[in-house]
Amino acid sequence: KGPQRRRLVEAHAVAQEYYAEQLGTPEALAARQFLAERGFDQQAALTFGIGFAPRDGEALWRHLSGRKFTSEEVIAAGLVAMGRSLYDRFRGRLLWPIRETNGDTIGFGARRIFDDDRIDAKYLNTPETPIYKKSQVLYGIDLARKSIAMSSQAVIVEGYTDVMACHLAGVGTAVATCGTAFGDDHARVLRRFLDDHAELRSEVVFTFDGDEAGQKAALRTFEGDQRFVSQTYVAVAPEGMDPCELRIKDGDAAVRELVASRRPLYRFVLENVIGRYDLDRADSRVDALREGAKLVASVRDKSKVDAFARELAGMVGVDIEQARSEVRRAA
Ligand code: ATP
Ligand code: MN
Ligand code: MN
Ligand code: MN
Repeated sequence: KGPQRRRLVEAHAVAQEYYAEQLGTPEALAARQFLAERGFDQQAALTFGIGFAPRDGEALWRHLSGRKFTSEEVIAAGLVAMGRSLYDRFRGRLLWPIRETNGDTIGFGARRIFDDDRIDAKYLNTPETPIYKKSQVLYGIDLARKSIAMSSQAVIVEGYTDVMACHLAGVGTAVATCGTAFGDDHARVLRRFLDDHAELRSEVVFTFDGDEAGQKAALRTFEGDQRFVSQTYVAVAPEGMDPCELRIKDGDAAVRELVASRRPLYRFVLENVIGRYDLDRADSRVDALREGAKLVASVRDKSKVDAFARELAGMVGVDIEQARSEVRRAA
C-alpha cells in the first residue's frame, strides 16, 4: 500500500503555494500576460490560487524534497513523474489548483503558454491518483458550493477560464469538469449541494462554448443520465465564443444574460433536430415530426412524454393527436 492520502494532500498544499509564488517571477511574464488578456487581475489570480510551473523540470521536486517529501509520495501525488530520473509533471505552464469541496488542493489543470511549446497538448491535468478522481472532480466547487446550495442551481461550463469569468461576472454557481465529459459521478457530487427538498425545482445549466464541440457536448448530455432531464437546461454562447471570451468582449452582464438564456434540455435537443428540416414544406414537416417523435419516445421518464409530445406538436405545427400517435409509433 502506498503513501497516506494525508501526505498527498500536504504535498499539494506545498506545491500550490510554491507555484503561486512562481507567478511573480520574470520567467512567468507570459503567464501574467495571459491572465491579463483574459480579463483576470491579481486579485482574481489570488482567489483562484493561480500558479506558474517553471520550465526547469526539477524545480518543484527540489522544493518538495527540501520539505521532506519522499519520491514515493510526490510520485503517488502525480506531481512528479519517473523517467530516467525524477521530473516535474508540469513545466512552463499556467496552473489552476483543483480543489476538493473543503478547499484542499488535490490536483492541477495546466495550460501551455509558451509559443515554442506547440507540440505539447494545450491542457494537461493531474492523472488519476488516490486523491484525484477525474470522474468526480468539479473545478470551482469549493467556491461555488454555497451559491449552489442557496440558489438550487449549478452551472456547468467547459473550462477553467470560464469558471473564473462566471464567478467574476456574478455567476457564482459555475463549475467545470476537468478534461472529461460530465458524467453520473459529477451529478452525484452536485446533488449533495442542490437542496434535497427543492429537488424538483433545482436546475443544472450546461453552458457550452458556441462552437461545434460545445453543441455536440450539449446533445450528448441528453444521451446520458436522463433521470433529471426536466431539470437540465442548456445555454450556448454566441458566435464561437465561450463565457470567458464573452466577458472580455461584452462584459459581466453578457455572461449573466447567457446563463439566463438557458432553455430546457429536451427543447434544445428537439429544436436542434427539427431545425434540420424546412417546415414550410409538408413532406419535410412529416420527416421532422417523425425524427422528433423518436427523441420524445426515447425519454426515460415516461411521465414527461406527453408534455414533450405537446411541445413537439407546437414546434412542427401539427395537432397534438398527430404528435402523440407518431410518438407511440416510435416507442
Ligand atoms: P483557452 O485557454 O484556449 O481559452 P478553453 O478553456 O477555451 O481554452 P477549450 O478548447 O474550449 O478550452 O476546451 C475546454 C476545456 O476542455 C479546457 O478548459 C480543458 O479543461 C479541456 N481541454 C481542452 N483541450 C484539452 C486537451 N488537449 N487535453 C485535456 N483537456 C483539454
Ligand atoms: Mn471549445
Ligand atoms: Mn477559451
Ligand atoms: Mn473554450
